[in-house]
Amino acid sequence: MAANLFSEIEYLKGVGKARGEKYRKLGIGSPYDLIYHVPRAYLDFRVHVPVCQAECGAYNVLKLTVFRKMPPQRIRGGLVICKAAATDGIDDILIVMYNNVYGFQALKEGETYYMYGKVSGNFLRKEISAPVYISANENVLIQPVYHLTQGLSVNMVRTNMRQALELMKKEPFETLPVNIQRKYGLCPLTWALENIHFPESDAASETARQRLAFDELLKLQLGMALMKKRSRRNTAFRMNSDLDISEFTSGLPFELTGDQKKAIEEIVSDLCRDVPMNRLLQGDVGSGKTAVAAAACYFASKNGMQSALMAPTEILALQHYRTLSEFLEPFGVKVCLLTGSLTAKKKAALYEQIASGETDVIVGTHAIIQKNVEYKALGLVITDEQHRFGVAQRAALAEKSDAPHKLVMSATPIPRTLALIIYGDLDISAITQLPKGRKPVQTYAVTGKLRSRAFGFVRGKLDEGRQAYVVCPMIEESESDLFAVKTYAENAQSGELKGYTVALLHGKMSAAEKERTMKKFRAGEIQVLICTTVVEVGVDVPNAAVMVIENAERFGLSQLHQLRGRVGRGEFESSCILITDNTSEECVKRMKIMSSTSDGFKISEEDLKMRGPGDFFGNAQHGLPPLKIADIACNMELMNKAQNCAKELLAADPELSAPEHKTLKMDVIKLFNREIVG
Ligand code: ADP
Ligand code: MG
Repeated sequence: MAANLFSEIEYLKGVGKARGEKYRKLGIGSPYDLIYHVPRAYLDFRVHVPVCQAECGAYNVLKLTVFRKMPPQRIRGGLVICKAAATDGIDDILIVMYNNVYGFQALKEGETYYMYGKVSGNFLRKEISAPVYISANENVLIQPVYHLTQGLSVNMVRTNMRQALELMKKEPFETLPVNIQRKYGLCPLTWALENIHFPESDAASETARQRLAFDELLKLQLGMALMKKRSRRNTAFRMNSDLDISEFTSGLPFELTGDQKKAIEEIVSDLCRDVPMNRLLQGDVGSGKTAVAAAACYFASKNGMQSALMAPTEILALQHYRTLSEFLEPFGVKVCLLTGSLTAKKKAALYEQIASGETDVIVGTHAIIQKNVEYKALGLVITDEQHRFGVAQRAALAEKSDAPHKLVMSATPIPRTLALIIYGDLDISAITQLPKGRKPVQTYAVTGKLRSRAFGFVRGKLDEGRQAYVVCPMIEESESDLFAVKTYAENAQSGELKGYTVALLHGKMSAAEKERTMKKFRAGEIQVLICTTVVEVGVDVPNAAVMVIENAERFGLSQLHQLRGRVGRGEFESSCILITDNTSEECVKRMKIMSSTSDGFKISEEDLKMRGPGDFFGNAQHGLPPLKIADIACNMELMNKAQNCAKELLAADPELSAPEHKTLKMDVIKLFNREIVG
């Protein structure tokens, strides 16, 4: 049988078992997958310089004729060095290759090549090391560069790519009808796939990339829209609007802010309709979303319905459990905590209580969506920090009941355009005010030179009875020079923090260890917590009033803001010290924004402006299916276009069942890795 696009990747010439495995490692199982493995960059051989103009210490493209290959030299440690002398017709240069006998053998004396590599040496004697090269007879001078895995060379991938593209040309395919392509100014799909790999010009590769990125964004939105439609087609339990919650709100230890009240009203009004609620509750860290969630749970329980609250980590689940019990138990609303680390026996007992309806509010991690958990009457599903959950997990929770009302809480204030894509078409309640009397966290950015002064400040706070966090980007020391919590804690214990109680908290600790540490920290037995970003969400220790963030350049604006939200949660004046030695313009700007504002929505808008939506999609935390192309190529305009196109397509063909949408629908299902319609 002749190979086609959907044959096994091994059908391509030169791909045997070994190379096939390498491809599969990259998620490429067929020629079709291969053509969607888009280049991460291009090498442009169109512009080359003579040897005498090559800049030393920099990468250059040279046009060189090889005139003498020297025998490979094997040196210590198995390293093989190959050298060849070459000329551009005027000056000579030495080509040096390390451990690349294959690449060296392919060079022929007397032949001319375009070579791209780092040039070193001086005016008299230059060398180019480890160059990437193509023959000067090659007519495609813009060459793709791919993400590779060990054992796959860029030349092999290029050769296989050409074969795969030939197969594609034999059976061209298209996902968008011609009128849609015209309307949105898009090129045909097969043209895009060919030109993303081997473009004749920069314009061609850009046009191709726009089309492919558009397709991805479109599929994403179609998928989200189809999922949403499926969930809204159902009817939900209509709660009783005559029941009121004033008893609950007046029992709270504080006065709700205006935004909290408004959010609660919006939620209650949704719950009193038979269309399932699908609402996003956005609010900065510390804005009091949990109290709003508690009010919703209270209302559901008055209606005889259970609520489930799912948090992304055990620490956070526990935190919610505490808060909700405190708020709700006085009113006879029973709250339980269900996490993966419970013993089987405890779990079984909880399952029974949940199935019998004895518990009203079930708080937990993804353990609450396991198959064996059966609810008596699940009416409301709340997910916290839900950008950390996959779309599939969210859907699984929604399927636990015929059609529960859904509330999604996020502390990442996402600008509206992005929220519409990420959360489909949720209704949004936003809390923008902070509770009364809350003081913003004083934030300072300093260089490492001021570290010991910073710690002097920290010790001062500790001596006043406060507690502190020190955040490092890594767990263990590696080759990079980033700070790692383990050694950092050791050094601090014998240095800057000598005489204070210090403990570690990081993601590789078991849930029990983490919980033990948090318990001690909460109890004040630990003064300083040296941690990775595991403290980012949910940790609430009002006595913690200082945070030091090392390698602050490693964190995005929104992440820094989230981290910082761990302090300033009590009555104390709080501070955050960002330490970085990075002086790049971007980093300086970020540090400035952090020290000048504490408004989360403003910070996220700045973040979006600085990084673009592509970077946001590149970040795995949103829980969307991975985007390959849009993450680098996407911009606001393209995203809006894709959004309009999705609406238009669905208006004309709500289930995408028309024959001309068949490929598109198949791709959407594939992207989400599940059946999302029907
Ligand atoms: P979020 O989940 O939005 O980050 P929380 O719900 O954890 O914020 O609230 C942070 C803290 O503020 C909690 O200790 C909570 O009890 C308190 N809080 C919530 N609402 C108010 C309010 N209206 N006035 C004073 N304190 C409040
Ligand atoms: Mg919270």
